[in-house]
Amino acid sequence: MTSLPPIDSLLHANPDLKALRDPADHGTYVQDWRGLARGETPAVLLPASTDQVQAIVKWASQHQVALVPRGGGSGLVVGSIPTGQSQVVVSLERMNSVLDLDTASPSITVQAGCVLGQVKAQAKQAGLLFPPSFGSQDSCQIGGNLATNAGGKNALRYGSMRAQVQGIEAVLPDGSLYWDLDGLIKDNRGYDLKQLFVGSEGTLGIITAACLRLYPQPVDHATFYATTPSAQHAIQVLGALRAVVGDAVTSFELIGPTALGLVQEHSKLAKLPLAHDAANPYAIIGEVSLFAGAAAIAEHINAALVEQIEQGNLGDIVLASSSAQRDAMWLVREETVHCQKAAGASIKHDVSVPIAKLPQLLERGEAIMRDLVPGCRPCPFGHVGDGNLHFNCAPPPGMPNDAFLAFAKPMQAQIFDLVDQLGGSFSAEHGIGSLKIHDLETRLPPANYQLMRAIKQTLDPQNIMNPGKVFPD
Ligand code: FAD
Repeated sequence: MTSLPPIDSLLHANPDLKALRDPADHGTYVQDWRGLARGETPAVLLPASTDQVQAIVKWASQHQVALVPRGGGSGLVVGSIPTGQSQVVVSLERMNSVLDLDTASPSITVQAGCVLGQVKAQAKQAGLLFPPSFGSQDSCQIGGNLATNAGGKNALRYGSMRAQVQGIEAVLPDGSLYWDLDGLIKDNRGYDLKQLFVGSEGTLGIITAACLRLYPQPVDHATFYATTPSAQHAIQVLGALRAVVGDAVTSFELIGPTALGLVQEHSKLAKLPLAHDAANPYAIIGEVSLFAGAAAIAEHINAALVEQIEQGNLGDIVLASSSAQRDAMWLVREETVHCQKAAGASIKHDVSVPIAKLPQLLERGEAIMRDLVPGCRPCPFGHVGDGNLHFNCAPPPGMPNDAFLAFAKPMQAQIFDLVDQLGGSFSAEHGIGSLKIHDLETRLPPANYQLMRAIKQTLDPQNIMNPGKVFPD
């Protein structure tokens, strides 16, 4: 076990603070979800209260011990594992209570260790909706969701976590408490400091609780799976749907042919609802939320989609007629992530561009990939309605993983250059972690980057909060 300053004094003063000091107990706490890295730590601390988090951070500040805040460990940029041997992991999992559910506001106030799926279920029980929704929702935690500004399939209508947060409680790097859980919708008392913690990836403090916005629960959904020739055609369909129902289009996802093939090959759970032919190789999974007058609106949606078939923007379409069918459609989307993992190595690009430029991104990006690695299989899928694609690349059949991954850096550099040219972002929703530090430094406008560093330096002059993530250590 790596040596550590006097942790016994911390544990002695806080007898209820749970600590795992035996490396045999560190298991997934030091493991990255994608299997890209495994860390080492002298201890995993599991506080049960904000007071205990404060005690930990004060101790760390006093002894210059680096801390790694840990949520559900589902992040995709290697952000929540230690990158140095003496970094202590702080897992929020024991802080998993709902503190308040205010149906008038409506809002829910929760501790940071609450699992996203649990918060969604609590809201639903009260007849309300907490919209963020994605494949890791049964393991990721609200603290991690906020720290990564997570998006997901409903961000199209409701925005990412930044739009959901009405208040935050966070322990600052000197152990003091930032508190803003009033949950006010309007509050102009100076800077909106809570937003500093959203997307901060554990580098500015430890989020311990949050007040989150809730919405009316739709009475029904119109969910469909359709085949389409290309991203360009998919964008036409989105425009046509919005012309009929406005922002009731809550999700609009595109899945490319490679990802659909991986689902067919590797998923034991998902089955494609329609066959794809060469003319319509892409899939759209779309959803409109229905409120009052649902039946009448559903008729307009059907008519709009039929018109899209007539115009050649869709090949074939199936509408979910039960919640089981709806779940089966969404399973196809969720399985794309797992099946890529099951299929072996992939080079990932979590990028966004203005929606109108998505077809250019795909055409020029696929050419870049194929020039660099002949025979590779570009594998785009994602939140096309937000201009956000997981523009991944699978190896040519038979190429060993290591040989393929040797192309990761040059491929990412060229794809990110293209994204820059198109006015996009090299990190749309997964964050920087320890994987994209150099890109942040070199691709952000210099003044923006310096402002970020100045904020980090002001809040955490000793660099004890998640060092080696977002910025170089
Ligand atoms: P972790 O992985 O534990 O941590 C992530 C970062 O947050 C780390 O830097 C960590 O230090 C920091 N952190 C964690 N808790 C705290 C805290 N309390 N205070 C301060 N910092 C903290 N993401 C999307 O945005 N959209 C998607 O559609 C999506 N789909 C996914 C599907 C799958 C199958 C998987 C595995 C992941 C997906 N992700 C997606 C990525 C991931 O689930 C999100 O980034 C999620 O928000 C991470 O939450 P977590 O609790 O697992 O955080």
